[in-house]
Amino acid sequence: MTGKSIDRWGIIGHERVVRLLQRFVERDSIPHAILLLGPQGIGKSTVAREWAAAVNCLAEDPAERPCGACRSCALVAANRHPDLIWMQPKKGVWRIDQVRELERNLMLSPVEGRYRIAILENFDLATQAAANALLKTLEEPAPHALLVLTASDESNLLPTIVSRCHVLKLRPAPEDEIERGLVASGVDAGKARLYARISGGRPGLAFRMHQEPEILAKRESFWQDFLEMLRSGYAERTLYASKLSEDQALLQLWFDHWIGWWRDLTLIQEGTPESIVNVDLMQDLERIARGIPTGAAASYLQRLQRGFSMWRSNVNTRLLLEDLLLQMPVISV
Ligand SMILES: [Zn+2]
Repeated sequence: MTGKSIDRWGIIGHERVVRLLQRFVERDSIPHAILLLGPQGIGKSTVAREWAAAVNCLAEDPAERPCGACRSCALVAANRHPDLIWMQPKKGVWRIDQVRELERNLMLSPVEGRYRIAILENFDLATQAAANALLKTLEEPAPHALLVLTASDESNLLPTIVSRCHVLKLRPAPEDEIERGLVASGVDAGKARLYARISGGRPGLAFRMHQEPEILAKRESFWQDFLEMLRSGYAERTLYASKLSEDQALLQLWFDHWIGWWRDLTLIQEGTPESIVNVDLMQDLERIARGIPTGAAASYLQRLQRGFSMWRSNVNTRLLLEDLLLQMPVISV
């Protein structure tokens, strides 16, 4: 297999995963269900879309799929392929009626392609009933039906779901590849370098920073909150927790940033500041790392990560945030 055939997928990073998917297509051994794991913005949807293109591509030679040029590939790219079903959680939760609707949809014969393929985003946000219903579909798949599930990690998925899927973990993409990708699509070199760096290996996030300036504005406002909360006491922290909990939609981003900053603080305290992601905030981060006890960053990072996973499993958000904020170290300088 040449590098060229991988390039056809047009995916930044994830070379190992793309090679594997390409091999499935070339050998015509298409797994019924794939589970793509990785944080938001890493490229799960992009990989899922290209996989959908590859399995239904009309190119004669399987090694040429996805060709990007045939009618089927064009329909997938335009998100108009009649056999491609994209589904997301409704208001943050996957419910059983959605899974039932999907089941009915997957029973239908393909209209245009070889397969009917459903992409279920963030399936770790499923209720127990929805997860159990999907399990039935996974156990008795229609021969023409393919599933792609995405999730941030497997801890909030039923082990029986995970074991019935071909699991692919997406690792951070190389920074220079993201940077080249951004430059190639017209972002100026300086910004491309910064976005690539602070995306932490997530090409999707890097591109969103360029396309949606509010992403960076939000980062800045969360950073100001972060600085303020480090210096604040009980009353301010509880108030902030309650304010944050009112905006579930923003919480993913909030966790994302706060976890990133605590990861950087941990790296600085552990003596490897060169590997931090938020290079533009280096000075402040170093000052904070000096102001809290050694080891405090690492243990708080763990707590936040656990909190994030609990939030994904639908606990009481306000209480969870209150607990997380009150446990956060107080800066002494
Ligand atoms: Zn094609």
